Amino acid sequence: MSIPIEGAARRDRAVICEVCGHEMRQLPGSYEGQRDWVCSWCYAVINIFAGSEHAPRPVYLPVNRRWEIAEAEGLPEDVSHAYAYFGDTLCGIQMDGMSPSPYRWTTAHEGTCQDCKAAAEAIDCRWPQEKRDWDVQVIAPAMDPNSPLF
Ligand SMILES: [Zn+2]
Ligand SMILES: [Zn+2]
Repeated sequence: MSIPIEGAARRDRAVICEVCGHEMRQLPGSYEGQRDWVCSWCYAVINIFAGSEHAPRPVYLPVNRRWEIAEAEGLPEDVSHAYAYFGDTLCGIQMDGMSPSPYRWTTAHEGTCQDCKAAAEAIDCRWPQEKRDWDVQVIAPAMDPNSPLF
């Protein structure tokens, strides 16, 4: 499923979030041919490909499937902070070289940062209920290779 970029109200260089209407910010590390944007309010992420008129709809993920644990030299390892895309954590810690770890951040993690948890829950609340099932797709059943095409 995708939305026309016009539908995302692309004005000049601004991209407006389809989920909540706030402005999106371009993610660092976007590469040639693709620009990734994240909403400054609900943290919806979209990928816009060069020359494409469409962007996939942002996918809703619940709090415990959404974030990765932040990693940085000097960041205490006994507290798990959620990585917030811009070299920072959801609770606002900013450090040079901070990056997401391969590990999922969850509120059930021992040593979960309570400020990150509060932020993650607040962000979750910014997704209207009706925008949460955008990731539901109807998958065609696998075809039997021996069956006639039609
Ligand atoms: Zn948004
Ligand atoms: Zn934190």
